Amino acid sequence: MRCPNCKNPNDSDATICQWCGARCAPEPPPSSNPEGKTLRQLVKEGNSHLATRLYIEETGATVREAENHIKKIKKQLEDRRNDKKVLLGILGLMLFAILLWLIFPE
Ligand SMILES: [Zn+2]
Repeated sequence: MRCPNCKNPNDSDATICQWCGARCAPEPPPSSNPEGKTLRQLVKEGNSHLATRLYIEETGATVREAENHIKKIKKQLEDRRNDKKVLLGILGLMLFAILLWLIFPE
């Protein structure tokens, strides 16, 4: 890493600059959300803990509020998944009916 004081290169794990002796700041920790994902995406991926933390970071909400918020997102996602299942079921039935009608025309 580069020394913040003299700008000379140092080993990446150096804490003190080998050139000027200044304290080298450690690399900033990787962002907890490097890809800028939405809460919904994180929850979808099963990353509710991270989503909860991000919500707290972004809104200053309490842990309890954040957990409730994430729970709501989870529920919305589940509802949507169930809707899809129902829709697929109906489509399947319709296809089946059409097939029957093709095979056994009146
Ligand atoms: Zn230096």
